[in-house]
Amino acid sequence: MASSTSNHSHPHPHALLFPFMSKGHTIPLLHLARFLLRRDLAVTIVTTPANRPFVVESLQGATASIVDIPVPDDIPGGVESTDKLPSNSLFYKFATATAGMQHHFDRLLETLPRVSFMVSDGFLWWTLESASKLGVPRLVYYGMSSYASAVSREAFMSGLFSGSQHEDELVTLTRFPWIRLTKNDFESEFRNPEPQSLSFKFHMNMISATINSYGILVNSFYELESVFIDYLNTESAPKSWCVGPLCTNISEPKQPRKFGFWVEWLDQKVKEKCSVLYVAFGSQAEISAEQFTEIAKGLEKSMVNFLWVVRKREWELPDGFEERVGNRGIVVREWVDQREILMHEGVKGFLSHCGWNSVLESICAGVPILAWPVMAEQHLNVRMVEEEMKVGFRVPTCNGSVRGFVKWEGLTEQVRDLMEGEKGKKARNKVQQLAAVANKAVQEGGSSCQALDSLIRQMCDCSI
Ligand code: UDP
Repeated sequence: MASSTSNHSHPHPHALLFPFMSKGHTIPLLHLARFLLRRDLAVTIVTTPANRPFVVESLQGATASIVDIPVPDDIPGGVESTDKLPSNSLFYKFATATAGMQHHFDRLLETLPRVSFMVSDGFLWWTLESASKLGVPRLVYYGMSSYASAVSREAFMSGLFSGSQHEDELVTLTRFPWIRLTKNDFESEFRNPEPQSLSFKFHMNMISATINSYGILVNSFYELESVFIDYLNTESAPKSWCVGPLCTNISEPKQPRKFGFWVEWLDQKVKEKCSVLYVAFGSQAEISAEQFTEIAKGLEKSMVNFLWVVRKREWELPDGFEERVGNRGIVVREWVDQREILMHEGVKGFLSHCGWNSVLESICAGVPILAWPVMAEQHLNVRMVEEEMKVGFRVPTCNGSVRGFVKWEGLTEQVRDLMEGEKGKKARNKVQQLAAVANKAVQEGGSSCQALDSLIRQMCDCSI
């Protein structure tokens, strides 16, 4: 049954946050919790038993209440986060099964002190019904950029997916004529929806619940993508509010910090006046054994210093890799504080899968990106990184398709270009300019700060 650390008396407006059970969706809402706490709101975070330790650890003593509700039997206990799924192909099964939590959630809402408003992930579409029963306004959290939302919408509306083009043929979007993309920039579930499939029903439920919610919270800032935010706010409902980048919320932890050995290694590299490439593909991406070996070879041959976070224990490095690389590179097989690494003065480049959080964290740290999209909307994020923001460029694939195999030679060349070449220098200048704008947006008077203040005012008026 539900367990809580709250004292259950909330004299302040009370926000309830319900993140989806994946790291990339949970982390930004925990940052949001801090923004709300700083504005004197009471905050309750809803999670599941297996995800509770991660939430507690990430909040580092911030005074939010944490409540966990059990998961239905079709989600095996402990496998309560998408990064614990044996395969990403189970995603829709998992996401659909979360609806089985609804009756626990209904009961929880009835027992909590009055909730002024709820922020729940778009994937948890069924929370709208629970909120509506009690007259609680729901804001939807979408963990992607407005660019990705707007471009997907336009591609769909303009019939790109039903056209006869080859999957890798570049097509211009009429509404955004400077954007050219391919069918392969989208996941197949999105391109060829099968009306009887779990994914189709899931997306339909999500869209319908979003349309009937109060607003959409976007982890972005207006200056970054005003064209796309304005487009969404003109063409679709409900209103989108940019309140990010939420990763800028770095406050002094109340508990002592645990430093990993990699921080000392980075410090040492700074003393040696070396710059470091940070390599990470987020918490979800699946990479074939063959591709993993090619990445290792590319990094080895590049001769740059690198810190590589490897998510899966079963991904094996080529024989003798560590001896050949020596102290020039380290491979970390633990959870790291990615923001801390990106903010480290030794880190001068990021080889990234371009999950939206990673893109924002790199921008805020002023680190240029070598982009290697793997899944979800990452291909669109890469177009945004390279073509719109110009804060990085993509790794070349051997067949030219955005989903093709990357050979070590191409990787080595681009890594060197990022760290030492002209292309890297340009991207670095650009990202540093953007970092200043991003960090200003969340400060007093900034666009995101004003948007959040105004949204909270509206939410509190709604709930009277
Ligand atoms: N992350 C981290 N340490 C790790 C791996 C990931 O802090 O060892 C964080 C990263 O900083 C980001 C999130 O996990 O905030 C991953 O989100 P993103 O959207 O980049 O990618 P996803 O994992 O959703 O594909």
